[in-house]
Amino acid sequence: MTHSRTSLGDLLTQYSLKPSRALGQNFVVDPNTVRRIARLANVAEGDFVLEIGPGLGSLTLALVETGATVEAIEIDKYLLEPLRSVVEPHGVIVHHADALVADYESILAGRDTVVVANLPYNVATPLVLHLLETVPSIKRLLVMVQKEVGERFAAYAGDEAYGAVSLRVQYFADATVVGKVSPNVFIPKPKVDSALVSLVRRPEVRIDPALVSEAELFTVVRTAFAQRRKMLRRSLHDWVTEGVFERADVAETRRPEELTLEEFARLAAAK
Ligand code: SAM
Repeated sequence: MTHSRTSLGDLLTQYSLKPSRALGQNFVVDPNTVRRIARLANVAEGDFVLEIGPGLGSLTLALVETGATVEAIEIDKYLLEPLRSVVEPHGVIVHHADALVADYESILAGRDTVVVANLPYNVATPLVLHLLETVPSIKRLLVMVQKEVGERFAAYAGDEAYGAVSLRVQYFADATVVGKVSPNVFIPKPKVDSALVSLVRRPEVRIDPALVSEAELFTVVRTAFAQRRKMLRRSLHDWVTEGVFERADVAETRRPEELTLEEFARLAAAK
């Protein structure tokens, strides 16, 4: 029931559609890939899934096959008619909205939600951060993103891809790269490799807000990562106060890329 290269090509021709580069439209045309994503999402009957950017419904149909209840948010008005013709017969509700500013309170209506998405690559990072920061009823996400972005989400202290985004993600969730996807399964074929990332929201944020506020913590993270390879005494030069490294028990000769979220929290709390 999922799209093949031919059925997706037919839909594009029938509706005179050209995939939009600005909207990051790379459609999956390999039934095995969408079924693999649905399997990794680990959803079944009784789960509520929100798909972001359903496109022409490739992944949507694989999600429906799991028995989960599926709703989707698509920004492109030109896709709505063909998309609805494909997925509405399977009970999927399609919301026409921009996922960056959508009204999640009314769409999710408080339901515990699993987001599953082949994300438009240009908005993947701001969108994942927005959902983690502002939509607590989203408990898990399984997203396909550009490989480098996936590595950044799931990087830990000392990893090459580690940075302010990794720390922001880890404040809210545990992230793991769970698979790779080749460019060959898409129309049009992207120039980059893709990764599948699982993000599981923690019951509480990782750093107790009573110890240090989110704003103070991420001020020091951002300041430090503006010069990630410089020692802290340089990268935090304009931020430090007398004795802060000693009180936090973090050596000033270390570099931002080596520090864990807990160590940044100690620095912020010691200021
Ligand atoms: N899920 C489909 C698939 O796997 O074949 C399409 C994935 S395609 C990479 C990304 C989809 O996200 C496109 O359908 C695009 O129109 C949609 N999109 C782009 N920006 C969006 C936004 N801000 N809000 C909602 N959908 C968006």
